[in-house]
Amino acid sequence: MAEILPAIFFGHGNPMNAVLNNHYTEGWRRIGAQTAKPRAILAISAHWFVPETGVTVSTAPRTIHDFGGFPRELYGIQYPAPGDPELARRVQKMLAPLEVRLDTSWGLDHGTWSVLRHVYPDADTPIVQLSIDEAQPPSFHFEIGRKLAPLREEGVLIIGSGNLVHNLHAYAWGRHVQEAFDWAIRFETEAKGLLLAGDHRPLINYETLGKEALLSVPTPDHYLPLLYVIGTRQGGDAITFPVEGVDGGSISMLTVRVGPEAP
Ligand code: ZN
Repeated sequence: MAEILPAIFFGHGNPMNAVLNNHYTEGWRRIGAQTAKPRAILAISAHWFVPETGVTVSTAPRTIHDFGGFPRELYGIQYPAPGDPELARRVQKMLAPLEVRLDTSWGLDHGTWSVLRHVYPDADTPIVQLSIDEAQPPSFHFEIGRKLAPLREEGVLIIGSGNLVHNLHAYAWGRHVQEAFDWAIRFETEAKGLLLAGDHRPLINYETLGKEALLSVPTPDHYLPLLYVIGTRQGGDAITFPVEGVDGGSISMLTVRVGPEAP
C-alpha cells in the first residue's frame, strides 16, 4: 500500500522566522526530518489571497519577497525549489468544473518559503502554490481540501501556511515579551478541541464562535489555509500539534498535522 503523507498547517508568523533559529523553526526542521520525503509539495499560503483560484505552473517559481520594512538580509533569501507543471495540471483537473487558472506570474511567497526553508533546507522538492479565492466562503476552501485529499496518496505533501490567530493590530513588534492575550488563548484552545474531536463544522463557520473568533480572525486570509488542510482528513488520521506557541501576544504559531501518527 502506498504510504499516505500527512497534510500540515503551519503558523508562519513573522517573516523574520525565515532567518531565525528559535523554538518554532526547530519544530519545523523536526517535522521535515520526521516526514517521508514527498515527491512534490502543494502549498496554500495566506499571502496569495486573490479574487480567483490559480495554480503556479512555472518550472522555476521565483522567490517573492512580499513584505516591507524588514532587514536587508531577508530580501536576499532565495528558495530555488523547482515547480511541477504536471502537478499543477492535475490539481486543475481534480477541481473541475471549478475554473482554475494556470498562473505564470506568481511564485513562492514568504508564507511558503519562510517555513519550507527550515522544513526542507535543500529546496529540492518541487512546489506548486494554489491561490485562495478571497471572494469565496469558508466552506469553499474546505471542499477544495476534500477534493485534493487523494494527492496525499500520490506522494504529494499538502501544506497550508497562515496563522490560526492573526491580529496584527494587537501584535507586539518590539523586543519586549508580550504575554498571549486571553482571547487568543481561548480561541486557540477551542479550535484545538474541535480539531481533536473532528468537529469541522464550527471551524468552517468560525464567525459563529463569538468575539474571541472575531479578534483572532479579523480577516480570513491567515485562517483559511487551515480549512484546506483539515479538508484532506481521512478516517485513519490523527491530529497532532507538533509546534505550539503564541508570538507577540496575538499570533498563534500552532502547527496542525493531519495524518498517520508520527514516529
Ligand atoms: Zn503572514
